[in-house]
Amino acid sequence: MILTRRRFLAAASALALPGRIWAGTEIDLGQGRKVLSLSDGHLELPPAFIFGDMPEAERKAILTAHGIDPAGPLVAPCNVTLLRDGTNTVLFDVGAGPDFQPSAGDLADALAAAGVAPEDVTHVLFTHGHPDHLWGVLDDFDEPAFPEARYLMGGTEAQYWSDPATADSIGAARAAFAAGAKRRLDALGDLVEPLAPGDSPLPGISAVATHGHTPGHLSFDLDGLMVLGDCIGNGHVSFDQPQALLGADQAPEEAAETRAKLMADLAASGLPVLGFHLPGGGIGQVVQDGDAYRFAPS
Ligand SMILES: [Zn+2]
Repeated sequence: MILTRRRFLAAASALALPGRIWAGTEIDLGQGRKVLSLSDGHLELPPAFIFGDMPEAERKAILTAHGIDPAGPLVAPCNVTLLRDGTNTVLFDVGAGPDFQPSAGDLADALAAAGVAPEDVTHVLFTHGHPDHLWGVLDDFDEPAFPEARYLMGGTEAQYWSDPATADSIGAARAAFAAGAKRRLDALGDLVEPLAPGDSPLPGISAVATHGHTPGHLSFDLDGLMVLGDCIGNGHVSFDQPQALLGADQAPEEAAETRAKLMADLAASGLPVLGFHLPGGGIGQVVQDGDAYRFAPS
């Protein structure tokens, strides 16, 4: 894999949005395939949402060590992956849209700055059905935001969020997640095609089971570049303590097992990753650091 990389900055004048500059990070995968990390903005989350029941002193120590104010809110960048191979224009997740948090939902502008029109997108591959990944799928008229695209989601994941019983079983803190996901999947209807782990929806892309954050969470292996989604969901505690049971994960034990195995594999291989909530555009490598790991942005 060729890891030439360049920053691209699209001037605000091109967007008629004075004062705004959109940044992305690009990786050249070779053979005409390019991956761009686009910012959908960021989320602001209460620390307990990420850390769950971890004792406050422990949580504070981790955040302080990473230069983050432990009083919160935690700022989680949102990096949407775009793959272009000359024929296909593929999005991995679609950001939050306008209805989740005011600091997120910027993907449409980021795409415009990259010269991609909504109708240019040929495939949307979802890692999972959480709001910051799925809710941008409908436009202001509740029509699919990418009118020419095929939409693919893990079959287990799509079934989970389409099931009316999920709103009752998911717990009060995420009840709105369930309602929002179901509304959007219902609107897409038959447009959503199920994926299974191991499936290759396009040449050079394979779906990898990384369950635990959600029941059917998938990551995508792009010939060595791993589009993680949220199975490694932050740049701090996930690396410091991959085995920790985190509040951000719907099945914390399964998520911790997935994360620990993936960390070990990625550190051993040195292959690059693109993480939805990892810092600096989300592209980098997992590096072994004693008993733990750290994220080394490219
Ligand atoms: Zn997320």
